[in-house]
Amino acid sequence: MSASTPKVWLTTLGCAKNQVDSDKVTGVLHAAGYEDAASPEAADVVMVNTCAFIEPARRESIDTVLELAEAKQPAAKLVVLGCMAQRYEQVLIEALPEADAVIGLDRYPELVGRLDQLTEWQPLQIRPLQQSAMDILYETLRPTPSTPYAYVKVAEGCDKLCTFCAIPQFRGKQRSRSKENIVAEVTGLVRSGVREIVLVAQDLAAYGRDVGDRGGLRALVEEVAAIPGLRWLRLYYLYPGEIRQPLIDAMAEMPKIANYFDLSLQHSSHRLLRAMKRPGSGHGHMELIHSIRKAAPDAALRSSFIVGFPGETEDDVESLAAFLRSAQLDWVGLFPFSPEEGTPAAELSDQVPHDAAMERLRYLQGLQDDITHAKNAAEVGRSVEVLVDQVEEGQAVGRSYRQAPEIDGVVLLDRGAPGEWLQAEIVGAYGTDLEARVLR
Ligand code: SF4
Repeated sequence: MSASTPKVWLTTLGCAKNQVDSDKVTGVLHAAGYEDAASPEAADVVMVNTCAFIEPARRESIDTVLELAEAKQPAAKLVVLGCMAQRYEQVLIEALPEADAVIGLDRYPELVGRLDQLTEWQPLQIRPLQQSAMDILYETLRPTPSTPYAYVKVAEGCDKLCTFCAIPQFRGKQRSRSKENIVAEVTGLVRSGVREIVLVAQDLAAYGRDVGDRGGLRALVEEVAAIPGLRWLRLYYLYPGEIRQPLIDAMAEMPKIANYFDLSLQHSSHRLLRAMKRPGSGHGHMELIHSIRKAAPDAALRSSFIVGFPGETEDDVESLAAFLRSAQLDWVGLFPFSPEEGTPAAELSDQVPHDAAMERLRYLQGLQDDITHAKNAAEVGRSVEVLVDQVEEGQAVGRSYRQAPEIDGVVLLDRGAPGEWLQAEIVGAYGTDLEARVLR
């Protein structure tokens, strides 16, 4: 039996939603008395919150588990969590003898008990009652983030039927949190020093639909934005068919909402979008972009696109290139199509060879890089508000409203401390990053 308090290390892979889950898991383990380890080598339990979204993410998850199995102390326990554990529990148990436990999202209520068993720890303090998986994911208890921004998940799961996506299979139907619960969490985070909140969900614009609250996101955003002390609110992943004018107007008019629209357009070909079971067309997407820019002329736009979807031709690639040239999006993520097990798109006959998809992707990426860099260069001379995220080797690093945490570029400042909100003039642009001089 272990006498001292076990120390836990958690590596998180995948998207912002997984980071939210990790924050919750960490909060629950702290409440149960576990402590953080300074490194995997110093941990009694090493955990990996895996991502199963696409094949490269699964490969990275497995590689990380194997690397940590090597790095940890021989007696330390290795636990696999997250989407991959949820979706491939049995396969992982058989294929990864290095792992002492594989615990998917639905079995999070067992997590504390399993760790107690694995570490043979008998804590002296009284434990909170075992909670349901949803309670753990949505519990307001969480550690204070080390950054001035924090992600808050407002719903789990997705009701859409995009043919390339396996998320609904392992995250289930959409379940929205109550507004009160979200507001309580954001209030706590702001009190602890967080200045920017990023609301995330698989299909954020559909927030509230599952509980009969159509247009729920606008009301939620109004309530959250009213929380004193909060400076910025950012919205992640807006499904194009769900973005209505009232939401665009609210985002444009409310000063606390970052003028940043993260659209997931996926392609410009109407035929391919139909095959993906996604809304819109190149023309429809452009109309949406125009309505956003009409309401919010300074809006920064980000979108993601799939390259090499089954049936995609060279003409489709050229039409996507023409769309990117005319849309002039600030930030773009291009992903090669990945045939996900159990999805309709994986069964389509006219698959594009991976090498051809990668060649198309490189072509589009080169074109978009020029657009992104030119948009950044056009920022020089502009005065913008910047939130300082951190100081790295004496260099203050922040972001303007155009830059979401961790995915877009940063603003390098001549001074500033984490959490400070500064007015700065952009004096240089270097690819995706900007340099600025603090005005006040
Ligand atoms: S909306 Fe997003 S999460 Fe939902 S099925 Fe489509 S791609 Fe997957």
